[in-house]
Amino acid sequence: MKASAQVVVIGGGVIGASVLFHLTEMGWTDVVLVERKELTAGSTWHAAGGMHTLNGDPNVAKLQQYTVNLYREIEQRSGQDCGIHMPGGLMLADDRERLDWLRMAQARGRYLGMDMEIISAAEARELFPLLAEQHFIGALFDPAEGHVDPTGVTRAYAICARQAGAEIYQHTWVSDLRQRPDGTWDVITDSGEIHAEHIVNAGGLWAREVGRMIGLELPVLAMEHMYLITEDMEEVAEYNAATGRELPMALDFSGENYIRQERGGMLLGTYEQACVPWSPREAPWTFDKQLLTPDLDRISPSLEIAFKHYPAMADAGIKTVINGPFTFAPDGNPLVGPVPGLRNCWVACAVMAGFSQGGGVGLTLARWMTSGDPGEDIWAMDVARYGTWANLAYTNAKVRENYSRRFRITFPNEELPAGRPLHTTPVYDRLTAHNAVWGAGYGLEHPLWFQRPGEEPREDVTFRRSNAFPVVAGECTTVRERVGLTECSNFAKYRVTGAGSAEWLQGLFTNRLPRVGRINLTAALDPSGHIVGEFSVARVGTDDFFLFGSQIAEAHHSRWFRGHLADGVRFDVLALSLVGLSLAGPHARDVLQSVTDTSLATEDYPFMTFRRIDVGMIPAYVGRMTYTGDLGYEIWVAPEYQRALFDLLWQAGQPYGIGLFGFRALMSLRMEKMFGTWFREYRPIYTPAEAQMHRSVKLDHDFIGRAAVEEELARGPARTLVYLDVDPDPAEPADVVGDEPIWHDGTVVGWITSGAYAHYSRRSLAFGYVPTELAVPGAMFEVEIIGQRRPARLLSEPVLDPTGHRMRA
Ligand SMILES: Cc1cc2nc3c(=O)[nH]c(=O)nc-3n(C[C@H](O)[C@H](O)[C@H](O)COP(=O)(O)OP(=O)(O)OC[C@H]3O[C@@H](n4cnc5c(N)ncnc54)[C@H](O)[C@@H]3O)c2cc1C
Repeated sequence: MKASAQVVVIGGGVIGASVLFHLTEMGWTDVVLVERKELTAGSTWHAAGGMHTLNGDPNVAKLQQYTVNLYREIEQRSGQDCGIHMPGGLMLADDRERLDWLRMAQARGRYLGMDMEIISAAEARELFPLLAEQHFIGALFDPAEGHVDPTGVTRAYAICARQAGAEIYQHTWVSDLRQRPDGTWDVITDSGEIHAEHIVNAGGLWAREVGRMIGLELPVLAMEHMYLITEDMEEVAEYNAATGRELPMALDFSGENYIRQERGGMLLGTYEQACVPWSPREAPWTFDKQLLTPDLDRISPSLEIAFKHYPAMADAGIKTVINGPFTFAPDGNPLVGPVPGLRNCWVACAVMAGFSQGGGVGLTLARWMTSGDPGEDIWAMDVARYGTWANLAYTNAKVRENYSRRFRITFPNEELPAGRPLHTTPVYDRLTAHNAVWGAGYGLEHPLWFQRPGEEPREDVTFRRSNAFPVVAGECTTVRERVGLTECSNFAKYRVTGAGSAEWLQGLFTNRLPRVGRINLTAALDPSGHIVGEFSVARVGTDDFFLFGSQIAEAHHSRWFRGHLADGVRFDVLALSLVGLSLAGPHARDVLQSVTDTSLATEDYPFMTFRRIDVGMIPAYVGRMTYTGDLGYEIWVAPEYQRALFDLLWQAGQPYGIGLFGFRALMSLRMEKMFGTWFREYRPIYTPAEAQMHRSVKLDHDFIGRAAVEEELARGPARTLVYLDVDPDPAEPADVVGDEPIWHDGTVVGWITSGAYAHYSRRSLAFGYVPTELAVPGAMFEVEIIGQRRPARLLSEPVLDPTGHRMRA
C-alpha cells in the first residue's frame, strides 16, 4: 500500500469508483481508493440498476444525461461488460395532476434536448402489454431509460481508473481520519496509514459513520428497499418473440412501483408508505454484502395495486425478493462537494440513484477538486445546502417523508410537513395568531401569506392558482396603497469586521463598497466570471459591514467567504442572532417616524441608508430599502426585541391601515419591479453580463473574475436574462413556476427562471434566459405552461414605477 497519495477515496461502491475514474480523467493520477470489503459491497451490488434522465431539477437531469451516456464509453475502454439495456421507459399517469406533471417534465426536458413523448393510455399499453389501461389516462415515454449491471459498471469505472494509474485497495478498512495542521490527512486503515492531501467520503451505507470519524453528522440515512423478481413469464416471452425487443420499463406513480424485464421474468420494486430506516443510529461495520429479511406484508398494499395495474403479475411465480438498504439525504438528492469548515475534505454520498447520477456526481466532484469549480450548477446536490441543524432526528423525519413520497407530486406551492416547525423567531406566535400560513427554508419558518380571520390557514396545492390568490392580492394592495408589515428574518446575515475588511471585500465584490451609512447591491464571482453570490452590503464603519444574502445559501456562501478569508478579517454568520421586520408602502415612513426620534425625511435618511437608530426603546439597524420596490425599511434587531418591535409597529400602523404580508406577496411585488432573485435569475451558471447585473459591476477596481467579465463584455454575452409579460390561458389561468421552456419561431430557445402573478399590476410576469440576439424590446415568445404554449412579450422595464420614484420618494 502506498504511504502517501494526493487523494484517498473512501468507499468502493459505484460512487467512489466514479469519483476515482473522473479524478484520473482530470489528470490526477496519484489517487487511491480504499474499500473495506470488496468493490460493490455496500448498497451497490444488490441495486436494480435502473436509470433515467428525467429529474425535477434540469441541472440534475443534465448530469443524469451525462451518466447514462457514459456507460458505453467506459464499457468500451475497460472491456468490462456493463450489461447496458436501453428499452426506454413509461411514466404512467392515473389522474390529471400527474399528467400535468408529466407534461411539465416533458417541457423541461426540451431545452436539454430530451426527446420524450406524451402518449395515451392505449398507446402505453401497445408498448407495454402487461398494462391494464383502464387505470390510466396517459403516459410519458422516454427512450433514454434503461438498466445496467451494477457490478459491471463499478468494475468498469475501476478498470479505467487503474489504467490511468489509480490504485485500489480492497479489504482495507478506514478506521480513523486525522487532520494535520497543514490541512492534509492521515488515513488510518487496518493495513497501515496513508498520508493524503485530500480525502473523499464515498462511504455509501457508512458515509455517516465515516463522517463521525471527523466530528461530522452528515444528514444521510439508509432505508430498506424491496424489489421482487418473478419466474419466467409467458407474456414476456411472447412480447420478446413478437417484437424482438425487451419490454420497456414502467413507473406507476399511483401504485408506488417501478417494473422492468429481468431476463425472462419481471422485476417489480416499491416505495411503500410504511417505510423503514435501516440502522437509524449507527450502521454496523459487520454488515457485508448482506441482504435484509424481506417483509412482503409491508409492501402488500403496493403489490395489490401492481397486480391490478399489471394483471399478469398476479399469476406470476415469485422467484426472489430482495430487501437491501440504500441511503438518502433529507430531500433525496446527493450530498456532494467540499465540507464547510474542513480543508481538503470532500463528500460524495447519499446518492439514492447511483446508476442515474453516479457519473455526474463523479464528474462534478472531480472538477471541483482539481479546478476549484464543479463546472455545472450542482446546487441541488451541494452538501452545503444543509446546516448543522439537519441532525440525526431531522434527517430521519425528512428521509422517511421523502421515501414515502418518492412517487408523489410535490406541487410548486406545496410545503412538506416533516421536521417542522424547527427554527422559529420570537414573532412566530404573533404571526400564527394572525392566521399565518407557514413555509420553511433552511430550517426556519417564514410566513407565506395570512389567511382571512376565521378560515383555516391552509393552502390548496396546485399547478394553477390556489386559494391564496385573492388573499395575496389583498396583501399586495395593502403594501402598494397603505403600509404592509412582514418578517424578513429569512435572509442570511453576515458581519465582517477587523482591519483590512474593506480591502478584502473589495477584492471579492463586483460593485464598489458603499460609503459608511449606506447599502448597495453587489455580486461575487468565481475566476471564470460566474456568479457565486448576490448580496446587499451595508457599511456601518470603515472596516465594519453587514452582508445580507440568500438564507438557503448560508452554509454555501460562508464556505466560500471563509475559503478566501484574509488575515485580520473576521467573518461571522449572524444566523438568528439578528432578526428582522420590514415595513413597506407609501405610509411606511409615517409609521416608523411615529416611533423614532431620528428624522426619516429623505434628505436625512435617503434611499439605501443603513444606520443604527433607536425604534421606540429598541436598538436597531435600519436599512431604507425593501424587496417590494416601495418606500420601505428593513429593521434588524436582536431576537429579544423582535416581539416588542412587532407590537410597536403594529400599533403605530393602525391609523394608516397597516396589514401583514407574506412571502407570496413579496414574490409578486418584486416581479412587477423586475427584481431578480438568487438561485433563480442569479445562479452559478450565469455571468453578470448575462444576468443584466450591470449596475452592480464596476470595473474601477480589481475583483475575482474581473478579467472574465471584461472579456465577456467585449464580445457580448451569448444569452440574456429577459423579463416577460405572459398571457396565461384565460379559461384555466396558470402562471409560470420556473424551468418552463421558452419558444421562438417554433423552436425552444431558452428557459424560465421564475415568475409570478403581479397582483397589483394585474399581469402574469416571468424571467428567463434567451439568446442575446433575440432579446429585443417587444419581441414575442411563447412560454410552455402545463403543455400549452402561451404568448409572452419581452418588456424592457418594470411594469410598475420604472423610474423607482416610489422607493426613493
Ligand atoms: C434494493 C435496491 C435497489 C436499487 N435499485 C436502484 C436502481 O434501480 N437504480 C439506481 O440508480 N439505484 C438503485 N439503488 C441505489 C443504489 O444502490 C445506490 O444509489 C448506490 O449503490 C450508491 O452507491 P455508493 O457507492 O454511494 O454506496 P455503497 O454501494 O454503499 O458503497 C460504499 C462503499 O464504501 C465502503 N466503505 C464504507 N466505509 C468504509 C470505510 N470506513 N473504509 C473502507 N471502505 C468503506 C463500503 O464497504 C461500500 O462498499 C438501489 C438500492 C437498493 C438497496
